[in-house]
Amino acid sequence: MRVSISENIARVHEQIEAAARRCGRDSAEIALMAVSKTQSAEVIREAYTAGQRLFGENRVQEFSEKVTTLQDLREADWHMIGHVQTNKAARAAELFHAVDSVDSLKLADKLNASARIQGKRLRALIEVNVGGEEAKSGLRPNDPELERLLSAAPGFSSLAFVGLMTVPPFTENPEGSRPYFRQLREVRDSITRRKLAGIDMSELSIGMSHDFEIAIEEGSTCVRIGTAIFGVRARK
Ligand SMILES: *Cc1c(COP(=O)(O)O)cnc(C)c1O
Repeated sequence: MRVSISENIARVHEQIEAAARRCGRDSAEIALMAVSKTQSAEVIREAYTAGQRLFGENRVQEFSEKVTTLQDLREADWHMIGHVQTNKAARAAELFHAVDSVDSLKLADKLNASARIQGKRLRALIEVNVGGEEAKSGLRPNDPELERLLSAAPGFSSLAFVGLMTVPPFTENPEGSRPYFRQLREVRDSITRRKLAGIDMSELSIGMSHDFEIAIEEGSTCVRIGTAIFGVRARK
């Protein structure tokens, strides 16, 4: 059976609202990102037509090909959520409105320089690898590079850090994600408490199709949903 993207989006919105209500939060502070990696331009257009505006992609090359036929989707907010190699930073700065997966000072520097040349202001999240998994990108919470990024952030004229993102280790039971979400929130809160000049870290990008309700309980301001909107991704 063909999935109805608009019905899926509507259902996820209802689930976000219900989860927010259960923990006394306002659902207006929780953005729904449609993770459209591996999906065709046609499918992305269908989601846009259904009212979706915030999209997440994880490969610069893949998105650069798709976006050529999506230039008319003026209100789309394109976010990069996958690892960006520094040699693709300029292209990423060109294609996306935000990079939610910054994991090194070198990358931040390149994104900032490229955005400045292009006369745009990029938003960014720092990706934190709270689970400490070898195969995942992101900075460990105690990595000195995190401090270096925070120190450099106020000097970036064209890159604004607005929060943190994580992808926790996968567990069958979504409750397994909770301690990692909580840990990310604590990292965020400890940064916020320091009242560092030029740094506002209010965004917490946590929660995917299987664990977004837990993420909302733990303070998510953006849930990144692929499967629950587009169906199971085809294997490459
Ligand atoms: C693929 C992906 C998602 C979406 O995952 P689903 O389980 O399909 O909802 C979210 N975040 C990141 C970083 C991803 O790579």
